[in-house]
Order: sequence, then structure tokens, then C-alpha cells
Amino acid sequence: MTPASLVPATGPAPSFFGMSRDRLRRHVLGHGVPAFRAEQMYAWVYQKHVRDPLGMTNLPRGFRESVSGICDFALPETASVHKSPDGNTHKFVLRLADGARVESVSMRTPRRLTFCISSQVGCALKCSFCATGLMGLKRNLRAHEIVAQVMTMGDHHGWRDDRFNIVYMGMGEPLANLAAVTESIRILHDERGLNLGARRVTVSTSGLVPQIEELAKLDLQVGLAISLHATTDELRDELVPVNKRWPIRMLLDAARDYSRTVGRRVTLEYTLLGGVNDSMEDADRLAEFARELPSKVNLIPYNPVPGLDWKRPSPAAVEAFAERLYPRAPAVTVRHTQGGEIWAACGQLGGLTPEA
Ligand code: SF4
Repeated sequence: MTPASLVPATGPAPSFFGMSRDRLRRHVLGHGVPAFRAEQMYAWVYQKHVRDPLGMTNLPRGFRESVSGICDFALPETASVHKSPDGNTHKFVLRLADGARVESVSMRTPRRLTFCISSQVGCALKCSFCATGLMGLKRNLRAHEIVAQVMTMGDHHGWRDDRFNIVYMGMGEPLANLAAVTESIRILHDERGLNLGARRVTVSTSGLVPQIEELAKLDLQVGLAISLHATTDELRDELVPVNKRWPIRMLLDAARDYSRTVGRRVTLEYTLLGGVNDSMEDADRLAEFARELPSKVNLIPYNPVPGLDWKRPSPAAVEAFAERLYPRAPAVTVRHTQGGEIWAACGQLGGLTPEA
């Protein structure tokens, strides 16, 4: 292969990170390159973490020198990285090609590393306690912009962890951008790529019932987390306005069907807001919901957001709620805050699920 034999691109080169292996095979074939070169490129980028084509030494020199003309290997610029005082949590701010910014968060626990990734710039759903909801929706992310967040965080952590989890729980409602989200999951799953198993991926939703049903049909087998946050429709209408369209009963039915289809228990995320949804009656109702389906409950004491009046409950109130819930619900975890204000930047306020 020489530069002269590469069929030139007619427009800007598409991002490597938005292409499944199959699509990359077709892409290089379209430029007169044998499809097996795509397999080699996938291994270099995702397994050996080499993104400079000149370093892909089993590709012909001429191809290495010209491939950037048909495939863009660049990641978005990392505008900033913030580290929590304990060093276990990092927030990454990425500047995308059009200047939009998205945030991703990595969190290390003794057991694993978890990457929380964004699916939209802003969010249309306007949950009343959420910093991202205040922005409104700017645009959906494309698959390559989602995969790029994982690559950026993996690079930062030196790819030393052979096991890491991904949660679609950053900025935006992932199921409102289902096509790009599922495309990115397929790319991350690829056994010749990052080979990220379905058990290590969780998609969170505030409750888009038709898209939950669609996700179940796609047979991706990823975990589902429901951002519940309230036990009555009256309160949930206020906290998570999409509840007016798909109220709690419909949401729990969809979650139960998802669990049956995929064979995995669903996580019920419950952000505890002081004096709002942390009563013993709330705990009792939440326990009843949790018993209706294979599930676990993840309690997240609220991280205050500047400009919003919601309060974090006291440690005693969190403990009392968890203790009331624990014997009645099948499984309960309490998210102990890591990174304080860093979590507050994550779309769903720290609703990460490293146990997922
Ligand atoms: S909590 Fe999630 S769905 Fe709700 S406004 Fe924030 S980013 Fe959107």
C-alpha cells in the first residue's frame, strides 16, 4: 500500500472512535484498502492504545503515512481535570469539535474503577435538583464523542486496570439519545476492541418507558438503573418532571419487564433530599417497590448544587432511612460521597453504580 493507492476522502475524515469494526472494514475497503487492515487498526487503538498511525508498525509504511486522511484518530481536547481531595475521583471536562463541553467522571473504589460518561450536551428533562437540567438541551452526543470519553479516562489512568465499569449517568438522558448510546456500547463491547462485557455497562434513565422497552429488545444485556428519587407521583412529578408522562407504576412495570428479558436485576437510584423524600413512609414505599422486581436500591445522599435549594440529609437521617429499608428491600447500598462537588457536576448527582 502506498499513499498513491489510497482512494482519497471526499470530505473530512470520520472519527475512528465512532466506527464499529464492521463499519471500519467497509470504510477502508471503500478507500481501496484490504478489510483486514481495519482489524489491525482496531487492535492498535483499543488493545495496544496506540493512536498515532506511524506507530502501527504492522501496517505498510505508505498506509501509515496517509491513513489520517481517511480516519481521524484525535480525541477531543481535555480542557481540565479536577481531582477530589482523596485522589479517587476525577472530573474531566472535554471540549468537543464545535466548542461544546461535556463532563465525565472516574471513580476508584477498592474493588474497581468506574467511568461515568455523558450522552448529551445539557439535558431537556429538567429534573429539579440537577445542575445539568438547568442548562437545557444543547445537542445529542455522537457515538464517537461518547467512546472518546472512555478513551480519555483510560489514557489518564494508564490503562492499568484490566477491569473497569462504565455507567451512562453523566450529563444528559442516555435513552433520549438511544441510537448513539447503543452504537457506542457496541463499539465498547467489541471483543477485538476494548472487549467491555455487558455486565460492566449500566445505562441510567429518568424513566423514558418506550426507550426502556426498545433497549430490552436490542439484546445488549446491559444493566439498567432507574433514577427514581421519589415514592409518590405527586413528589416525582416535581423532582423528575418526565414522571408526568410515564408515572411510577408504568416505570416499575417497564423495569420489571426489562429485568425479565435481560436476566439482570435493576438498580433503583434514590437521591436522598433532606426533609423532602427521606421519611420513614418513603422508606416503606421504596421497599415495596424494590420487592416487586429483581432489584437493588442505591441510596445517594444529595450533593448540594449552587443555585438550588435542596439540602443534603444529616448522616443520622441517611442511616435511619437505610436501616428502615434494609430488612424490607432485597439489597441496599449507600453511596458515600466521593469527590463532593465533583459529583455534583455529574448529571445525575453522583448516581454512579460501581457495584453494578
Ligand atoms: S438528572 Fe439526568 S435526566 Fe434529569 S435533568 Fe439531570 S441529566 Fe437530565
